[in-house]
Amino acid sequence: MDIQTFRSTYSSLTEPFICLCGSKISIPIKPKERFEIPITFGICLKCGHIYAKNVLSDKALDDFYTSPLYRSLYGSLSVQDHIDKLFVPNKSETALWKIAKPYLPNKNGSVLEWGSSGGWNLIPFRDFGHNVLGLDVSVPYIEAGKKTYGLDLRLINDSTIDELADQKFDVIILNHVLEHLTQPGTLLTQLAKISSKDTVFLIGLPTIEAIRDYGFQNYFTVAHIHYFSKYSFASTLKRSGFSLLEVHRTHGGLTFVAKALNKPVNRPDIKGVLFSFAILSSFYASYKTRQTLKKVLKATGIYRLIRKS
Ligand SMILES: [Zn+2]
Repeated sequence: MDIQTFRSTYSSLTEPFICLCGSKISIPIKPKERFEIPITFGICLKCGHIYAKNVLSDKALDDFYTSPLYRSLYGSLSVQDHIDKLFVPNKSETALWKIAKPYLPNKNGSVLEWGSSGGWNLIPFRDFGHNVLGLDVSVPYIEAGKKTYGLDLRLINDSTIDELADQKFDVIILNHVLEHLTQPGTLLTQLAKISSKDTVFLIGLPTIEAIRDYGFQNYFTVAHIHYFSKYSFASTLKRSGFSLLEVHRTHGGLTFVAKALNKPVNRPDIKGVLFSFAILSSFYASYKTRQTLKKVLKATGIYRLIRKS
């Protein structure tokens, strides 16, 4: 399927979607995503979460992620080139490693990454002497990561959680995973089953605080259902029975440190609603200002001169 056909048939492949907090009341904020696909995005008036209000059905989602169209929209590198490019030199102190380090023993800690793709995030953890396991749904990335990085990477299946029941991990990483899932809370609750009171979750997300890293137009994409903020993800954690310990600004978003300790709590969050409106308005205003300035410079010929110099 080409992009034009996908755009014109998108609405027939989708189902209506309500906020993770259960509220159906939202304000539409944007009618299309970065590739002009007609996805309506809304802000929940109960918790401030920003999300896609019409999402691909499970079957259409599978078809989309395995299609040549998805690969043509996101990156032109082959799997092996991608793996080679993301190689992490020996004992590199990456941002994720630095956040996790205080929660690990000196040696032989146990680290799980769910949604590890080819496993590049795990390389420093292995290099600093810990036991690492990566799980993913992509066979080509798992195979290339095993071969190139020499990591223990396995395919996720329906019994994966049960198979891991006897293991207890010091750190569980979910890096840029939850924004793709319709119900991220379900995965958090499942992973809570294989965690102890000491297990720490590192959860990286492309949050609205990082819109500038992508550009306003590029930030909203068919591949993401959820656009969390520090507030709306804190609400999601509470609803899944997690306690938030720390939040770090990392490239492309925020990384949350949390533990599965509590009973689930679902409360409205007015501060979260106001925060989403404020941050979105500010990024939209600066995007429109830049667009207008570009138009004026183009009309006067100054834009061409600046580009030449
Ligand atoms: Zn909500």
